[in-house]
Amino acid sequence: MTRTTPFASKLPSVGTTIFTVMSKLAADTGAINLSQGYPDFDCDPDLVEAVARHMREGRNQYAPMQGVPALRQAIAAKYDELYGAQYDPETEVTVTSGGTEAIFNAVAMAIQPGDEAIVFEPVYDSYVPAVELNGGRAVVVPLRAPAYAIPWDEVRAAITPRTRVIMLNSPHNPTATVLSSADLAELSRLVAGTDILIVSDEVYEHIIFDGARHESMARHPELRARSVVIGSFGKTYHVTGWKVGYAVAPVELTTEFRKVHQFTTFATNTPTQYALAEFLTARKGYPELSAFYQRKRDLFLRLIEGSRFRPLPSRGTYFQLLDYSAITDEGDMEFALRITREHGVASIPTSAFLYKQSAPKVLRFCFAKKDDTLERAAERLRRL
Ligand code: GLN
Repeated sequence: MTRTTPFASKLPSVGTTIFTVMSKLAADTGAINLSQGYPDFDCDPDLVEAVARHMREGRNQYAPMQGVPALRQAIAAKYDELYGAQYDPETEVTVTSGGTEAIFNAVAMAIQPGDEAIVFEPVYDSYVPAVELNGGRAVVVPLRAPAYAIPWDEVRAAITPRTRVIMLNSPHNPTATVLSSADLAELSRLVAGTDILIVSDEVYEHIIFDGARHESMARHPELRARSVVIGSFGKTYHVTGWKVGYAVAPVELTTEFRKVHQFTTFATNTPTQYALAEFLTARKGYPELSAFYQRKRDLFLRLIEGSRFRPLPSRGTYFQLLDYSAITDEGDMEFALRITREHGVASIPTSAFLYKQSAPKVLRFCFAKKDDTLERAAERLRRL
């Protein structure tokens, strides 16, 4: 007998997230896991020591709802230093339980039933459910392989009087593309005179390659005024499991953001906030992160040379797309499952991020791994 809920599903076509599916399959089959994006190496031991110290010193009760003041001050100082943007730590910076919570809050605060949010596909898997759970409709604008550039004319055509939000992500997961200052100029022209909110997921802000500059919405005065900019300490300090992120936005936006945050998670865990505040204040970690991951990207690319996979450009994030059309005609889900089971390397099929387009023959691989892990994985991929 099939058991049904006594209510209609709010997400009828959603299953379990692809990250959980592929990581579980990797664990069950003993495959090398290049699917879900997380480092397989440890964070700085001093960071763990700092968390332990704050725990020992008794910082184990609720943090302020907005976040620990020292961390909010350090975040504000970073935006001033890197992007020339002034955010008031008291009223414009909020610490969240990961980037995902911040994305959800920013959507929830703005979307009323029937409102539209423009998203770009491949779209990170939490965006559309966040819109739909709040009664909104996601208007999907395709980014097309292999360049995955934003087709600004199509964005213009997609804007209606119901457009409340445009969701952006740079560096972009899963395509590893980055927005340019010309993209920001286009965006700024397009939203001028509207009251569209920009939700800007910049969790890979410190992982950008080949000398490019991260074009944060915070850099651009007109865009900054209408943006919730979201960051993540998990990516920056190799601690994705701690689930600490943040959102910065002008006071009137942050006021609404906090109304949602205080009832989704209320506050984020206390001792990690104190430890992260120390690291951020000391400018530890993030200044050298791009070079660290660029070396990993280049190693991975060198290692798969001579395979039948063809790399697409990776300009940021810790992901590398590989085109496998020279190997098989299989669909990307089928191929990803098969190479996990038969060849022992797990990846992410990009179809998990597509609503409108049929999937190109491309898989996403995470290179935030020990060199040895990348070597072992590439050796297997070269046999395909
Ligand atoms: N952001 C990570 C990725 O793209 C996954 C995070 C998650 O599993 N929710 O792989």
